[in-house]
Amino acid sequence: MLPDDLDLDILAADWVWETDAGLRLTRVHGRFAALTGAAEPLGRPWPGLDGDPDDDAPLRSPIPFRDVIRPHRHRDGRTRWFRFGGAPLLAADGTVTGWRGLGAELSGPAVAELERARRCEEQSRRFDEQSRRFEAVVENLPLGVSLFDADLRLTAHNERLRDLFGLPQELLRPGTPLERMIRTSAGAGNYPHLNPDEAWDYVSARIAQRVRLQRERHLPDGVLLKTTIAPLPDGGTLVVHEDATDRARADARLAEQNRWLDHALAHMSHGLVLFDADHRVTVVNRQFLDLYGLSPETVHPGITAEELIHRRTEAGNFPGLRPEEAWVQVSERLAARTRYRLDQTLTDGRVVAVTYAPTPEGGFVTVHEDVTAAKRAEAQIVHMAHHDALTGLPNRALLHEGLAEALAQAPASGGATAVLCLDLDRFKTVNDTLGHAVGDKLLREATARLTAAIRDEAGLATLARLGGDEFALVLRPTSRFRAGRLAGRLIEAVGRDYEIDGQRVAVGLSVGIALGPTDGQDPEGLLRAADMALYRAKAEGRGVHRFFEPAMDAAIQTRRSVELDLRAALAEQQFALAFQPFLDLATNRIAGFEALVRWHHPVRGVVSPAAFVPIAEETGMIVPLGEWVLRQACREAARWPTSLRVSVNLSPVQFRSGDIDATVIAALRDAGLDPHRLELEITEGVLLQDNASTLAILHRLKRLGVRIAMDDFGTGYSSLGYLRAFPFDKIKIDRAFVADLAVRPDALAIVRAVTTLADSLDMTTTAEGVETEEQLAHLREAGCTEVQGYLISRPVPSEAVAPMLTEDGIVQPSPTAFSPSGSSRGREAEPGIQSRRR
Ligand code: C2E
Ligand code: CA
Ligand code: CA
Repeated sequence: MLPDDLDLDILAADWVWETDAGLRLTRVHGRFAALTGAAEPLGRPWPGLDGDPDDDAPLRSPIPFRDVIRPHRHRDGRTRWFRFGGAPLLAADGTVTGWRGLGAELSGPAVAELERARRCEEQSRRFDEQSRRFEAVVENLPLGVSLFDADLRLTAHNERLRDLFGLPQELLRPGTPLERMIRTSAGAGNYPHLNPDEAWDYVSARIAQRVRLQRERHLPDGVLLKTTIAPLPDGGTLVVHEDATDRARADARLAEQNRWLDHALAHMSHGLVLFDADHRVTVVNRQFLDLYGLSPETVHPGITAEELIHRRTEAGNFPGLRPEEAWVQVSERLAARTRYRLDQTLTDGRVVAVTYAPTPEGGFVTVHEDVTAAKRAEAQIVHMAHHDALTGLPNRALLHEGLAEALAQAPASGGATAVLCLDLDRFKTVNDTLGHAVGDKLLREATARLTAAIRDEAGLATLARLGGDEFALVLRPTSRFRAGRLAGRLIEAVGRDYEIDGQRVAVGLSVGIALGPTDGQDPEGLLRAADMALYRAKAEGRGVHRFFEPAMDAAIQTRRSVELDLRAALAEQQFALAFQPFLDLATNRIAGFEALVRWHHPVRGVVSPAAFVPIAEETGMIVPLGEWVLRQACREAARWPTSLRVSVNLSPVQFRSGDIDATVIAALRDAGLDPHRLELEITEGVLLQDNASTLAILHRLKRLGVRIAMDDFGTGYSSLGYLRAFPFDKIKIDRAFVADLAVRPDALAIVRAVTTLADSLDMTTTAEGVETEEQLAHLREAGCTEVQGYLISRPVPSEAVAPMLTEDGIVQPSPTAFSPSGSSRGREAEPGIQSRRR
């Protein structure tokens, strides 16, 4: 069935074939299967066609073809070469319906030639591909690359080269001599310190060495350039430039960091050791060695943690442990691989805080700090929190703790728990007059005596200082009798005279005793009970001890209710003034009246100022009350003959409130009273407080014309001293001296001395509490200016003042005349309590 026009060549073919229009075989004859290795050829593409349209183009042409040579991979893996020839099959309308032709395997030298050509082609294809890839790499390298042939002419370069040097494009054409490039580059300053000639000499000399060379230099724009010149086997030269600026900077930064680290390690106050993942020392600083007394010869990078612990044990860092034991302890902690901190006490007593922290690399770091001083300070602070700095005695907090403990143990051990509250008598006066330094010494001396006095109690007594001149003592187990006896010993010991800085000082001791559990079950209750007993001891003359009695509680309750009542009293106008005249001895006329406050209590009747003034002072109520007294006294006095003065008592607390002078001025102005008619009586308590500002106030008042009188003169500690501190207008000699005039011969001498002194200082003197004619005679003889007392008149209500004044104001000193017993107008219920305020 072969076409008639086939030539003989083709007839020599190995097979006959036919395909459809899509070049898929539809028929084969001959050795096709054997030659191609195909099992089932029909429906498959022509052998040798691997789907590449270029390859099968000649076969698709609608004209006959011949000598198409194609390689084909046999099933056995070897490649065979075939030659084809054929012609299209045409339908009646001339369209191609397929092809038909012959195929034959080639053999002999022709195949060898074909194989060689194919290999060549393959190689150059691969080479092309490689060089394409290579070029892409070179082009994208952060390096400037240039290649020169043996004649030192440019053969290749990348873009980066141009960027680095800023060379013109025309200079970078293949064939440009290296010399031209160098000279241009040198002209642009790329070779610092070299002119173009020198630069070329330099470069050409280096290339001539034909060895790989590396050099770094800085370009004018600051770039650090690293240049590598490498000779190539073909006689050419490869030049690679690297911008090493960033790397150099990073290196510099790293070096800097390391320097800092070294510096920090050397100068940190802590000891530090860094271990790697194998638990070997990699870094150890000087401080670590110094801290533990280790030598750099035995402890250095490279040794293991275990060896280090051994060295440290030998150096006495782990008291009481053998090296192996110490290591077991440490390694157990290391195994946890969590951060920890512990305080370690060394053999010599120093305390080192060790912090251990694992590092992300699997190692760990330990930091060692000598905290001995801090620990000591801490202990001291704890001590300070529980002890009084001045005397070293336990303070209130510690006493409370101890007392709570004693009370808790009491039921088991039996016996009473005694709490003694101690208070030094007259301490405040000593402190205020002789100074705090003397006061402190006195407290220390008194503490020493108290401590000595309880030594016999052999650890059963605890003494504490509660503050100021207050102490407390807990004694247990004990009895009422023993507590009382101890109190007596304490009073005796503290009461002996002191010699401080060459001065004789005397203080006393008052003691209040409460016994637990009868007087109180808890520390607060017991201390409160002892405090009430102390209050009683003070009230009953000081220098004594008193046991708590339930009635004292009631007394305190009364006090508290007075405090509450006082507030209401002012609002409800329960206060009134009584007036007591003072007589001028030269003229026998009433010179004025002292205003004395009275409280008309709706239930308790008339309450003595001695009973409520101290409470009013404690609560601050004295400030509004004092202002009321001042205003009321000024208003009353404004109605009296202008020759009469009014004197008003001022409390120290009123001075502390700050604006007493403004209050006085306002009272005078509102009453329309001449300041010269007002006398203010102050006690030494006023001068005891903040002297500068008090004196300033007194001077301001005096400048206004107000007279200032020193009240209760002679009762204080250093009355004479106060006379020098301020130019008083008047001294009121305390009634204690007046009462003593008849019985104590020196009393008269004292009064005489005072009047003489007052006279020389231009002050007047008023004797208080004059009750008898005899006293009056003595006082007149001693040179007193004025007298005041029941002999002249008791304090009277304000409406009784006017009748007391005769037409010419001259008053006869007669007790009956001025203290008309039985007369409800002239007589005033005198409060029984006569207490002297400090
Ligand atoms: P004081 O300033 O020394 O007042 C004199 C006290 O002695 C008055 O007692 C008066 O009634 C009393 N007295 C007068 N003559 C005699 C006498 O011949 N014999 C005796 N035994 N006593 C006499 P009072 O009124 O009970 O006042 C007591 C203290 O209360 C006063 O002592 C004064 O310190 C204070 N006080 C009275 N009123 C006020 C006031 O308005 N303000 C202030 N801050 N204190 C006042
Ligand atoms: Ca007075
Ligand atoms: Ca007085």
